[in-house]
Amino acid sequence: MALYANIIIDISHEKLDRLFQYRVPEELKPVLKIGMQVLVPFGSGGRKLCGYVIELTDQAEYDVRKIKEITEICKDSVAIESQLIALAFWMKKNYGGTMNQALKTVIPIKQKTAAKEKRILVLAADEKTAEEQLAEFRRKHNVARARLLEALIRERELSGDVVKEELNVGLNVVRAMEKLGILKIRTEQDYRNPVRQREREERKFLLSESQQAAVDAVLRDRREQRQGIYLLHGVTGSGKTEVYMELIAHNIAEGKQAIVLIPEIALTYQTVRRFYDRFGNRVSILNSRLSAGERYDQFLRAKRGEIDIMIGPRSALFTPFSNLGLIIIDEEHESSYKSETVPRYHARETAIERAGMTGASVILGSATPSIESYTKAQNGEYHLLEMKERISKRPLPTCYTVDLREELKTGNRSILSRKLQELMEERLAKQEQIMLFLNRRGMSGFVSCRSCGHVIKCPHCDVSLSWHSNGKMICHYCGYEEPEAHVCPECGSRYISGFKAGTQKIEMLVKKRFPKARVLRMDFDTTRKKESYEKILSAFANHEADILVGTQMIVKGHDFPNVTLVGVLAADLSLGVSDYRASERTFQLLTQAAGRAGRGDRPGEVVIQTYQPEHYSIVAAAAQDYASFYAHEMEYRRMLCYPPVWNMLLILSAAKNEELAYQASERMKRVIAALGYQNLFVVGPADTAVAKVNDIYKKVLYLKHADYAVLVDVKDRLEHFINGNRELKNIVVQFDFNPMNG
Ligand code: ADP
Ligand code: ZN
Ligand code: ZN
Repeated sequence: MALYANIIIDISHEKLDRLFQYRVPEELKPVLKIGMQVLVPFGSGGRKLCGYVIELTDQAEYDVRKIKEITEICKDSVAIESQLIALAFWMKKNYGGTMNQALKTVIPIKQKTAAKEKRILVLAADEKTAEEQLAEFRRKHNVARARLLEALIRERELSGDVVKEELNVGLNVVRAMEKLGILKIRTEQDYRNPVRQREREERKFLLSESQQAAVDAVLRDRREQRQGIYLLHGVTGSGKTEVYMELIAHNIAEGKQAIVLIPEIALTYQTVRRFYDRFGNRVSILNSRLSAGERYDQFLRAKRGEIDIMIGPRSALFTPFSNLGLIIIDEEHESSYKSETVPRYHARETAIERAGMTGASVILGSATPSIESYTKAQNGEYHLLEMKERISKRPLPTCYTVDLREELKTGNRSILSRKLQELMEERLAKQEQIMLFLNRRGMSGFVSCRSCGHVIKCPHCDVSLSWHSNGKMICHYCGYEEPEAHVCPECGSRYISGFKAGTQKIEMLVKKRFPKARVLRMDFDTTRKKESYEKILSAFANHEADILVGTQMIVKGHDFPNVTLVGVLAADLSLGVSDYRASERTFQLLTQAAGRAGRGDRPGEVVIQTYQPEHYSIVAAAAQDYASFYAHEMEYRRMLCYPPVWNMLLILSAAKNEELAYQASERMKRVIAALGYQNLFVVGPADTAVAKVNDIYKKVLYLKHADYAVLVDVKDRLEHFINGNRELKNIVVQFDFNPMNG
């Protein structure tokens, strides 16, 4: 049977989205694989060009007599680029968008800027002179010079970064001391290594029984050449990071590299340091604070084999390691693993695809696995590894649930319940630390009753309505709207409104109630500056404050051993968002928040304040009972046909002209209807959460079907339809599979 290869010609070629078909010659049939680089005749001039095999098929796409043959496979063919290009094609196919967009996602743009020079300051004066100088600087109160010289006498050499950032000594002082002959400046090529170089603290624990069992399970499969996908479900503080590091060590011993994905928000110095302490310079990181040039450098280092481990957010998945053996996704439930730009890929699914190309193992770790992953673990698609206890048998924290309706009825209008205030006083007296957490999300508030806890929901979608400034409450799923409520439809109370208290107001209240306590606040406003996020966290870790007030930023993966009390101020805030994942997210946030308490030697306590103490995600989080949460949540998903039971596709059309955007959605809806799929639900066109941004109008269609492949087919047909219709040229159409933000 004839075999054909669909080939993309040279990355820099203009018509990136076009695949060219070639016949596979008999002798290449057994060896040719997707991702390989081949030489093919192109055009009429007998020119030969390089291309990448993207698909192999027995279907000829046009006249077989006109299809040319592949000339040969290029040497060193399965270069890492080929693999990434094949991955890009898979992403385009499964998530929509153009090949160009997919390629830009997986292959970073080359940066011309040369690597920076790094300055090293070297002590030039002899010891005696240096000591004399130091005494003189001190006498003259030249504090900066004295500080620098003192450090130089101690260390002999200092990097320019340390001098600037840690000693806080400016360049003018350095130059002046160079003139005096006290120091010399040496320059070195700096690879822009983002891991701050420090003394390494080699720390290796004896693994606990459950840690060892998890490690062994993975290693056993690897010895038997079985590639596996593992869901490591370990309670907070069970020591997941140690498991990752042990597996990485084995992986490196086999001569392979590893990628570790961590949500950007948890990617702090504290986390990176643990890896650095164990693996030293073989680790690199990616984060959003790096410039494009710095990112490119890190990829270059990976390609040259100078590092074995890349740690970073979802984009680190495309690190060009040539012998990738392991991908770890920590906090796999995090919504930041879903890309918000085209192609809207999910890092988990994409990691599994990439791992499949090289036979790498994938470890998904979480204390609160996503419903999707847990379902796959139940179905046997992933291996479930469990760690049910904290390290050293430290107890999980004790949880108290406080009903805020009762507080209101009994005359306490403060956002701090009596129970919470009482426990806070106790902790402050013992000089232990407290975290107060406000799980507020998004801009558009939902509407709830402060007397009875009732949340106003869409009668069609069972998600809460969002409050818009135009005096209406709107469903983001189906477009249903009604006028703003002034009395609670449930109990008639007039205490119905959007929840308004922010972290700033809470910080004020706490300071007023506990005037002697030192309070830090961490939220979007206080972390806008580059380093401030890290600064607040380390100040709190060093016990420079007693209370940390913040949004979900404060609950992600940090390890503060002195925190013994965590207060969740209004647990249902995250239940109110209009998203079918609201309960899941609430459960995750509450469990993670509770997980911050009692990580040191002293046991922890958690106070969960809520208007809906009977809600299953709050009950389950308070009991730290994942299984019961999962069972309830799946019931809801099944009932309303939400993922992972069914699959969803959101189709967005955006245009300057509202009518055009609407018409495009309507036309696509007709195309979809003509496909004749059974049991395909189509809702819309509706307005998106924010219907107009920068004068661009957005309309959305929601599709639901049990089978993901059906939705991919719908996407393919629509892309075809759009490309073939000139009048749709000014409409931007985007696809989002199983969206993370409704
Ligand atoms: P998780 O990521 O599951 O919340 P961590 O990996 O942060 O847990 O581990 C929790 C704490 O326990 C950390 O301070 C870690 O250093 C410590 N730890 C981990 N494994 C061990 C071990 N085998 N023995 C002693 N301490 C450990
Ligand atoms: Zn009410
Ligand atoms: Zn609705």
